[in-house]
Amino acid sequence: MIIFTHHTGDPHGVLGAQVAATFFDRKLSIPSIVVGIERNFSKERLLRFVDEYYAGKWSPRGKSASSTQRSCGATSRPKNHDFLLPGQRIAAFSHLCGRKDLMKLIQELKRGGFITLLGGPQSRQDYVGEPDTDSYPHRFSGLKSMVDIAFHGPVNLLTSEHLEGRESLLNYPWTKDLFLDVDWSNIYTFSDTLKKLDVKMGQVLNAIGCAYACKPQTTTLPPPTHFLGKGIPELELRSEGCIFCDVSRDKGYHGAVDRDRLMTQMTGLPGVDGRKIPFELIDEYPIRSLGKLLEDAERNEIKLSQINLVCRVDDINAHASDLLEILSLARSQDIKIMFSSIGFESFCDRLLQYFCKGITVEDIVKCVETLRRLKDRYGSTFLYRRDEGANHGFIRPTPWDDSETMQETDRNIFLHRFFEDILPEHSTPLIVHHASTLGDWIRQIESATEITFSREGTWIEWWNPSLR
Ligand code: SF4
Repeated sequence: MIIFTHHTGDPHGVLGAQVAATFFDRKLSIPSIVVGIERNFSKERLLRFVDEYYAGKWSPRGKSASSTQRSCGATSRPKNHDFLLPGQRIAAFSHLCGRKDLMKLIQELKRGGFITLLGGPQSRQDYVGEPDTDSYPHRFSGLKSMVDIAFHGPVNLLTSEHLEGRESLLNYPWTKDLFLDVDWSNIYTFSDTLKKLDVKMGQVLNAIGCAYACKPQTTTLPPPTHFLGKGIPELELRSEGCIFCDVSRDKGYHGAVDRDRLMTQMTGLPGVDGRKIPFELIDEYPIRSLGKLLEDAERNEIKLSQINLVCRVDDINAHASDLLEILSLARSQDIKIMFSSIGFESFCDRLLQYFCKGITVEDIVKCVETLRRLKDRYGSTFLYRRDEGANHGFIRPTPWDDSETMQETDRNIFLHRFFEDILPEHSTPLIVHHASTLGDWIRQIESATEITFSREGTWIEWWNPSLR
């Protein structure tokens, strides 16, 4: 089976899709690979490869498939494929990243006779689509017409029976009992041709979902700036986690991964020159467990090279003093710690409040001062700067930009010299996924007025309104 996913072409693994391919391979006896599709890929060439793969004419070593290469299709069905009728082939998708070209690919493969399976983040929401599409036909109507099976939840709950496709929406709750084995060599990328991906940046799961998503908050959103004074009401929204976050809302929070499983994941990472490749630790609040992780890794003789943290500002501010001890430990083990992505998102208090970020500009300033102090003290052990490879969040434009928010943002960037080390090369426009709390906000505006906002795949173009 092929699991298709969005990919940038950079040498990073894709944990969810690679775990799924490993599970299919080892537990369901379905040989599987992940193919990361880059933007502007050649669809004709990809479809040619897909035909070869499912005809059993491709093997991981690039030779014609022999009896050792079993395709998830008609040509050579292994005994555990009895659930498939002769001629049936399954193509799986994960993490579409809102890309319409990937949605067209699903459609095309379905037309070509494949059973199409969608898993990964937002699979349930993207399958179902937005509500009230009869009254609002411009809304995203979901992927029901092209996806045969949508699976939400941990892949280890997927069975061969599910793949028969009797049920189209399979909805399982996340639990701590996850299959987390990864064959890091099962991923390829595709632009013009299939390329084996030599993964140089792995991922290790430490927390299942985001703990911040457990803190529901309420905020009152004014209409987009260009509609002020035109009869659009202010609306009160309740958000679980950050208001634009679709992932936390979809997944919730289910606690930390057991220590043994954490160690097993790190042990399973590929090595280079006697050390494990750098990895991103998936946990929005990683600092509380980082010291123990380093100690346990040393005790288990797992030689790490670099840990990248995707971390919230409040975690850094709450544990600034713990970081001294942690970084000393990391230095003694010759491990680099990088704060690779801190979700600052804005340098304006009003926008931070609209985003339900749970932090203020004062918190951000305190956090950045801590980072700069740690850099002075720990040098190359501690990385956080843009020129060291970090990419921190800065959302702009937003629907609420006006002269006041722009001035406050620019003043804070200048006053606190964020342009020196923190500011990314490019800001990111506010993205509204249809299943985020902001998606609810847009739909409430559409219900209360004659205004509609256009849709682009799974995203809502808040900057592109029209009158019904
Ligand atoms: S954006 Fe990050 S911190 Fe905010 S809810 Fe989502 S995962 Fe959590």
